[in-house]
Amino acid sequence: MAGAVQSEKLLAAKFAAVLPHLDERQRRLVLGAEARSLGHGGIKAVAAAAGTSAVTVSKGVAELESGDEPLGRTRRPGGGRKPVTDGLKLENAGLKTGEHGFIETDNYCRTKAANIFAIGDVTGKTQLAHYATAQGLAAAENAVSQKPRAHDTLVPNVIFTSPEVGTVGLSEDDAKKADRTVKTGKFRFAGLGKALASGETIGFVKWIADAATDQLLGAAAVGPHATELIAEATLAIRAEWTTRELGRTIHAHPTFSEAWMEAAHAVHGEAIHAPPRRKP
Ligand SMILES: Cc1cc2nc3c(=O)[nH]c(=O)nc-3n(C[C@H](O)[C@H](O)[C@H](O)COP(=O)(O)OP(=O)(O)OC[C@H]3O[C@@H](n4cnc5c(N)ncnc54)[C@H](O)[C@@H]3O)c2cc1C
Repeated sequence: MAGAVQSEKLLAAKFAAVLPHLDERQRRLVLGAEARSLGHGGIKAVAAAAGTSAVTVSKGVAELESGDEPLGRTRRPGGGRKPVTDGLKLENAGLKTGEHGFIETDNYCRTKAANIFAIGDVTGKTQLAHYATAQGLAAAENAVSQKPRAHDTLVPNVIFTSPEVGTVGLSEDDAKKADRTVKTGKFRFAGLGKALASGETIGFVKWIADAATDQLLGAAAVGPHATELIAEATLAIRAEWTTRELGRTIHAHPTFSEAWMEAAHAVHGEAIHAPPRRKP
């Protein structure tokens, strides 16, 4: 017997495995749009990548085939990438790998063995090309410098879905798990002149800020040019700006980047261009 559930609910639960670092709301937005644009075949392909068996979707209702795992017990696909450190004889250099074969490093890219540095995926940290590059530059400098430099750890993450996604720093979900008191501000592209003129109004940008100090801690963008827009958020968070400073920074009009300014105002309930809420 097939079990039928609303497609959005099914997709949000199952595809947590595909987009694990997005919060629930962002995942729904991306997967809803992907589902609409991909149709049946595409959804099945994404479902296979997520480790679930066949899914059929008809008139907004998705069905799991018999024998599938219950919702909520989905495995993450493959658990990420694996390091290939077996056979390198690292122990001859005084190095041991951790439980999963990764090489432990600090933020200076130093390993436990003197004068041996490690960078990139093999360190088991964020497995992204731009992070590996930042580590590599720090490692090269530290290998020859008397003044070691820690590499940055604020790493933007982009996904080329439709709509695009960009995230950086603390998410609202992370903040909740860490019992950290934050405030948030969100601005939907539907209220932005450039987005309206371009006909690309799906999505939003969002700030996560410390509730006491107003310092920017994290950001998410889902929508047009989100993979580019996340650069401004990364810069502002790295510079330890507050939402007030960001909100008072003049952004050119009409541009997509104005959304960050508007979302910073929204943290204080002052986003004067916010579009009216849609009726449920
Ligand atoms: C399908 C896919 C898509 C990705 N897309 C993105 C993306 O869009 N954006 C992003 O930021 N990241 C992306 N990544 C991740 C990114 O590719 C890695 O994080 C990045 O390449 C890590 O760099 P690295 O130097 O640690 O490892 P690698 O780039 O894998 O380089 C390691 C090198 O070491 C060589 N090597 C291995 N063992 C030995 C040995 N014993 N002796 C000599 N040489 C050896 C390998 O041949 C390889 O050339 C993607 C990864 C995959 C698999």
